[in-house]
Order: sequence, then structure tokens, then C-alpha cells
Amino acid sequence: MTFTNFGLSQPLLRAVAEEGYSTPTPIQDQAIPHVLAGKDLLGCAQTGTGKTAAFALPILERLLQAGERIGKRKPRVLVLTPTRELSAQIDASFAAYGRHTRITHAVVFGGVNINRQIQALSRGVDVLVATPGRLLDLMGQGATSLDEVGIYVLDEADRMLDMGFIHDVKRITAAVPKRRQTLLFSATMPDSIRSLSRSLLSQPVEVAVTPVASTAEKVGQCVYYVEKADKRRLLTRLLADAAIDRALVFTRTKHGANRVVEHLEKSGIAAAAIHGNKSQNARERALSLFKEGRMRVLVATDVAARGIDIDGLSYVINFDLPNVPECYVHRIGRTGRAGASGQALSFCDAEERPYLRGIEKLIRQQIRVISPQQASASAHL
Ligand code: AMP
Repeated sequence: MTFTNFGLSQPLLRAVAEEGYSTPTPIQDQAIPHVLAGKDLLGCAQTGTGKTAAFALPILERLLQAGERIGKRKPRVLVLTPTRELSAQIDASFAAYGRHTRITHAVVFGGVNINRQIQALSRGVDVLVATPGRLLDLMGQGATSLDEVGIYVLDEADRMLDMGFIHDVKRITAAVPKRRQTLLFSATMPDSIRSLSRSLLSQPVEVAVTPVASTAEKVGQCVYYVEKADKRRLLTRLLADAAIDRALVFTRTKHGANRVVEHLEKSGIAAAAIHGNKSQNARERALSLFKEGRMRVLVATDVAARGIDIDGLSYVINFDLPNVPECYVHRIGRTGRAGASGQALSFCDAEERPYLRGIEKLIRQQIRVISPQQASASAHL
């Protein structure tokens, strides 16, 4: 599946390509067609799964299809979120994906001067991202009106309830037209969310991506801060430890996978790469050598590794960190299966620090840092 298959317009596809996204994440695969079709949606997904694009892209597409409007614009889309950080992030996503369109957006949250927000709203806006309390203040001051909202999104609804926003959400919902499309996302689905969704959604499609945090708890994890140029040396140094009998190594690109294999072979370590440019035959051969224990290292890209199952794999090495946090959890889930102990060792260069932060947020834990100087035998144990 690619983004082109969804039938998104060129300006959006261009922006997606510029963001560096090549394949949709599972929640995007599942949600985008339904949102494009105008359905209500109940989405069970955590931050880190790519859920923002799962709603922002089809929403932008629907706005493009509805055509531009002249004059002062009242919000046509309202996204409610519990925190200012999340609202700023979502607004930035609308900015990024909509950069080749003339769709306007604004974000309002509490704790900052309200006058600038009033001004921004007075210029007219298509997409409004807001936290509940500040939005109610602005509505009270007549700075915005929700009577033209056609798409209403509640993001991290469970957190919104935990933070005591239920009455605010109800007041805001009452100000939004009844005829609308509603999308509700929540990381968890307790009864309170089920009943909220029954009151807000009409015949919703339900989509869910597996809760990802649980795998991460069983696998020992550590991260090496390392310069990009030193990653290959660090890898061979780690593999000098015979305790690592077999390792699945992940790279972000096919080219990167090939280079790692070349380097390992030069160092006398048996390795092969599996990725989309390899024939089915070559991939199967590499996989069976690896499974039988006749080849010590298998280097893979995320796409190639999808669906492969290797019994008793005790080491996953992230030569590159994935930019989608959920991928990290899928990668390390290859080890530590069926109660076996597993270790995930990750390399993180300066450019990858933001990815690491995203991963730690998703798995709700900090990954132990090992300095490269310690990176000899068994420092990770
Ligand atoms: P979210 O769950 O919306 O917070 O997204 C998590 C991260 O994944 C963000 O940094 C996005 O930029 C990134 N992302 C979202 N969709 C994709 C995709 N299809 N391919 C690669 N990265 C993505």
C-alpha cells in the first residue's frame, strides 16, 4: 500500500513525500479510506502510531474537495486535544501536510496571551486545533463560532476525560452542528470512552492498532549515543562478544542494509541483507541460513522484516532508529518471545535524538544509555 492508493490530491502527496513517508502506518491504512468516505470513526491508537496523519490527511483532502471559500472563514474543522503540546504538534502537522494548499489553520490553548489568538481567529481559519478550556473562553468572547464545523475530532479522548474535561467537551459538542463527521481517538477504551463515543458518533467504523507498549516491557533495552560515522565500528565491537549468537540488525534504508553487510563481511562476520531489492529467492535463502544458525547476522529494513518470525532470537540491534516510534516496538518484539529473554540494542546519532524521544514517549519508559566507551563485551547485560 502506498499513499497514492488512497486517491489523495497532488499537493498532499507532495507534502507526504517531502515528509519522507513512503508507506502508510497501520492506523493510516485502516483509517484514511473511511475518513475520506465521510464516515464517523472510533480509533484506538496511541501517539507514535502515525495517527495524526491518519486523520489530518483525509481531512485536508475533504476540505480541498469541498473547495475554497471566500471571505471570512469560520472553522470547518475542529480538533480538540487535552494538552497544549499535543495541540501544537497537531497544528504543525496540518501546516506540514497542507503546505501546498491554501487551507488555513490555527491553534489555541491556555496559559498564553489570548489576544493573539483572537486576532488569528478574526483573520478566518479552516482548521482550528484547541484545548477545551481556552476554546470555551474564546467562544464566550465571541472570537469564534463553531456553527460551520463539519468535521469534529477528539484526540486522546481518554486523557481528556482523565484531566476532567468532560463538561467542557459536552459544552463544545453542543455548539457544533449535529450534522457533521466525528472522529474520536483514544489510546485506551474504558467504558467511559465507549459511552462518550456512543453519544458523539453515529454508526462509527472502529479501527484499532495493537497496543504497543506491552512488548517493550519484556525486552532488555539500551541505547548507545554514537556518531553516525562510528556506527559500523560499534557494531563489529559488539559482535565480538560471542554471547550474541545471532542478531537481527535493522537499518532504515536498503542501501544502508547493503553497506552494513559489506562491512560485516570484511570483518569476517557472516551476514546477509533482506530488503525489497532482493529477489524472493535470495531473501528466503538468507532467512533460512539465519534460522538454522549458519549465518550470524541478518540485516533488514522494516518492510522486509514484516511478518518474519524467528524462534529464539535473543538480539535485535537498531543500527538506525526508526522515525515512526511504533516501528521500534515492532522491531524489538522480534525478540523475547514466548518468555525467552531478549535484548534490544539501539544506536542513536545526533540526528536521531528526536526519534529516541518519540520512542520513549510511546513506550512510557526511558531507555538506558551506555556510552560507546563501555561498548565492549556484555555491557548491555
Ligand atoms: P503520531 O502518532 O501522529 O504522533 O506520529 C508519530 C511520528 O510518525 C511522527 O513523527 C510522524 O511524523 C511520523 N509518521 C507518521 N506517519 C508516517 C509514515 N507513514 N511514515 C513515516 N513516518 C510517519
